[in-house]
Amino acid sequence: MAKIVVVEDEAELAAAIAARLRSDGHLVEIAADGPAAVRTVAAAQPDAVVLDLMLPGFDGLEVCRQIQRDRPVPVIMLTARGSETDLVVGLEVGADDYLSKPFSMRELTARIRAVLRRAERSARETATMLRTGEVEVDISRRRAWRGGQLVGLTATEFDLLAYLLAAPGVVRTRAELLAEVWGYRDGAGPRTVDSHVRAVRGKCGPGVIRTVHGVGYAGADGQGR
Ligand code: CA
Repeated sequence: MAKIVVVEDEAELAAAIAARLRSDGHLVEIAADGPAAVRTVAAAQPDAVVLDLMLPGFDGLEVCRQIQRDRPVPVIMLTARGSETDLVVGLEVGADDYLSKPFSMRELTARIRAVLRRAERSARETATMLRTGEVEVDISRRRAWRGGQLVGLTATEFDLLAYLLAAPGVVRTRAELLAEVWGYRDGAGPRTVDSHVRAVRGKCGPGVIRTVHGVGYAGADGQGR
């Protein structure tokens, strides 16, 4: 479920889009002109915006410019003009996708699903803080805390913990960990992995890395067990 602002001055079309999105389980707010669109987006902080190009007040391109300046949000532009220039400008001012009128509701919901998925993925990729239970890891500053207390991890211990927590619950074999964390450094073997896991658990708590017998290890999946 996502929060979506629909900006469209044709009341019937706006209502039809809103009805379809609500039946898909989304929360929907409607705005019918440029200034109202900017206000509504600022107040609602939506996950995505469906934005008509031709609007009273100021047009969709200007709306897009203004809302993207405040906070990046996925935008799907609706255009009746079919002019390539509008589309190019729309994409330049930060629209993620566009649909030419007339379009089917099925097409619109598919596009919305796609932009939401993309936004979610990029949010995950830019997140630098990983958390599980009482353990926090700051990837960019290479620091870890347990219950708010800085934990002294060696570089390899940090890399191991960060790698496992980046994909919580995903089981990694010792061979995978050796390749990804140690890069097959001389002298590193399966026992090296085990001893580092022990060290990380000793410093960060036993639940932070889970043993999967006969397979390998997985980062705690956020339940903080
Ligand atoms: Ca219009």
